[in-house]
Amino acid sequence: MTTLIVGGGWSGLAAAVRLCQQGRQVHLIESARQLGGRARSIDWHGLEVDNGQHLLIGAYRRTLALLADLDQSPDSLFDRLPLSLTVHDPAYPPLQLNAGRLLPWPLSLVWRVLADNGWQVSRQLARLALQARRFNPHQDISVQQWLKNQRQSDRLIRQLWQPLCLATLNTPIETASAALFARVLTDTFRRRSDSDLLIPRRPLGQVLPESAARYIRQHGGQISLQIRGRELLVENGRVHGLVTNKGAQIEADEIILATPPGVSRQLLATHQSLPEPSHHAIATVYLQYSSAMRLSAPITGLSGTIAQWLFDRSDLRPGLVAVVISGPGYHEKLSKAALIDIIAREITPHLPAQRGTLSDALVIREKKATFACTVDIQQQRPNNRTEITGLWLAGDYVTNPYPATLEGAVINGEQTASQLIAEAAVSR
Ligand SMILES: Cc1cc2nc3c(=O)[nH]c(=O)nc-3n(C[C@H](O)[C@H](O)[C@H](O)COP(=O)(O)OP(=O)(O)OC[C@H]3O[C@@H](n4cnc5c(N)ncnc54)[C@H](O)[C@@H]3O)c2cc1C
Repeated sequence: MTTLIVGGGWSGLAAAVRLCQQGRQVHLIESARQLGGRARSIDWHGLEVDNGQHLLIGAYRRTLALLADLDQSPDSLFDRLPLSLTVHDPAYPPLQLNAGRLLPWPLSLVWRVLADNGWQVSRQLARLALQARRFNPHQDISVQQWLKNQRQSDRLIRQLWQPLCLATLNTPIETASAALFARVLTDTFRRRSDSDLLIPRRPLGQVLPESAARYIRQHGGQISLQIRGRELLVENGRVHGLVTNKGAQIEADEIILATPPGVSRQLLATHQSLPEPSHHAIATVYLQYSSAMRLSAPITGLSGTIAQWLFDRSDLRPGLVAVVISGPGYHEKLSKAALIDIIAREITPHLPAQRGTLSDALVIREKKATFACTVDIQQQRPNNRTEITGLWLAGDYVTNPYPATLEGAVINGEQTASQLIAEAAVSR
């Protein structure tokens, strides 16, 4: 029996690979011209860049295990860096977060925070780390309220928590879920290796989509690009196929919708109601300076500016910088030219003197980059099991402990695949 997977993002691909591994036949349809979904590569004057600068962390266990199963060595795919971040703000001294190496974990982190930022900052960080582990997820509040309750200073809120909350939840602290943020903080700092930063060394399309597609085809699976699922065929509470945008009917007794939440909602509309999440955008601005230009660190944080994180991407092309702006804001109203102009000025103090002139720039705006991780979001995320027999949900939005991330997408793809197999075994 063939399982039809709708959507070739990281979740759909993870589901397809795991089903193939169990000897199942799969057919994956994807509406776009390429696989990868919200984590894909695009062509920029002959250079393959990502639709947004993605960052993974050492705690992404399922993603790293999936890549290893596809014979993709994480060492060849990522620059794995021990946590080392400096956040610059025009109003305050730089704030530093370093994992340290000399002492056992988490003492090394505590020691480095103390040495780099002083007693006041260390005390507040320690308090929040402790409270994050104790947070009751059933009594969610906004991150801002939680930070105030935990007596975090205005400086720490602005220079550390707001940028980290935007980077991880893509939601401003005023509306972001403290339960989710606390969970992310706890998991990221559980072990030293969990806090490692993994920067893709290759375009994202080459990280998972290419190897997953190869694996699926080698195992007899079929991948059809530029085919959009338009309507589900359901009879007596059981799915039996799908009609595509081309009017073709694909028969299938098992279907996984690994589509973004809005699309899954639409496809299911006449059968089951799914919550409608709101979304936030992420903008990525690539700036090309002279080939000799290098940033002083692979990643630099900024607060109090539109630009939030700078990535040195000279590995892709010498002199290339990626600037990330997460969440909603005034920048969304700016024209691309105005945004490039402002960002280039904002980051100038953080570039070396020999940067040369800005010779090229690219703005990529992903309007529905992620669902908004607002208060009580965890109670609203749907289960992967639908009310229709044979029909399953995957994708980053389906319930799991994480915000919209690659790891959440992979977890849900794999989980759905294993539940589908387990159920099929029982009903046989
Ligand atoms: C700019 C940006 C930066 C990000 N940065 C990070 C980061 O640093 N770290 C991190 O962990 N995560 C990051 N994310 C989030 C991460 O990319 C997503 O959580 C993840 O890619 C979601 O995967 P998915 O498979 O669930 O969904 P998607 O990637 O959205 O995949 C769904 C697929 O379904 C296809 N589709 C839609 N409708 C249909 C249809 N009717 N029929 C067939 N196919 C259809 C779509 O084309 C798409 O390929 C970022 C996202 C963006 C946009």
